[in-house]
Amino acid sequence: CGIVGYIGTQEASGILLEGLRKLEYRGYDSAGIATILEGEIHCVRAKGKLHNLEEKLAGETNPARTGIAHTRWATHGKPEEYNAHPHMDMQQRIAVIQNGIIENYRELREELKARGCEFRSETDTEVVPHLIAEELSKAEKSAEFPLLEAVRSVVNKLQGAFAIAVICADYPDEIIVARQQAPVVLGFGQGEFYCASDTPALIPYTRAVLNLENGELARMTPIGVEIYSFEGQRLKKKPRTLDVNP
Ligand code: GLU
Repeated sequence: CGIVGYIGTQEASGILLEGLRKLEYRGYDSAGIATILEGEIHCVRAKGKLHNLEEKLAGETNPARTGIAHTRWATHGKPEEYNAHPHMDMQQRIAVIQNGIIENYRELREELKARGCEFRSETDTEVVPHLIAEELSKAEKSAEFPLLEAVRSVVNKLQGAFAIAVICADYPDEIIVARQQAPVVLGFGQGEFYCASDTPALIPYTRAVLNLENGELARMTPIGVEIYSFEGQRLKKKPRTLDVNP
C-alpha cells in the first residue's frame, strides 16, 4: 500500500491527496485520510480507487495542518470501507495507517478483546490504535514525549513487516512513524515535513530526504524530525539530497 503524512504550515489534505495520487499504483482497494481538525480526528475513507475518496472530499474545506493518508492493498479483511485505513482507537483520538502485515495480530486482538476492546474492522492494523491508546495513558505519567513512547512500546510488541504512521488529537503537532521491513522515506521542507512509502510522493515538495531504517521511529513536528531506535535511543541522522533528473 501507500502511506503519506504531512505536518507543517500548509493545508495538509491537498498535499496528502496529491501524495496518494503518486502512490496509487501501490494499492486501490480503498483510500483514506485523517487530519487533526479543531481538536478532533477528522477521518474520511472510501472503498475503491482514490477517485472515490476525492469525490467524498469535494467541496470540503479543511484547514488542518497535520494529517496522514493511505491507499490500501488488502491482505487481512475484505476491500470494504470499514476495513479502509486510517483505523482508530475506541475514543477516536488516535488514527493509524499501516503498510504491510502484522503477523501476531490475532493474539493481540484476542488480548485486547478480553480487556474490553471493541473492533470495527477485520484488519491486522486495528490492534495498533487500540494498543497505543492503552500505552498512551501509561506514558503520559512518565515520558517526555508520551505519543512517541506509546508507539515505541507498541511496535516492540508487533511481529511482521510493517510501516506505520500515527496521529493523536491530543498531540496535534506530532506524527510518529515507525519502520520494520517496509519502506518509509521522510521529506524535509522549511517548517514542514513529510513521510511517504516512496519518493515520488515527495518530489513535488522537497529534495531533502531521509530513509527510515528497520527498527527506527521518527517523531515529526512542525519544527523538525527526531529519529529514535525501537530501544528508545536518539539517533543522529541527516537528510540527503535526492538526485532527480530534470
Ligand atoms: N495488512 C493491512 C490491511 O490489510 C495493510 C495492507 C496494505 O499494506 O495496504 O489492511
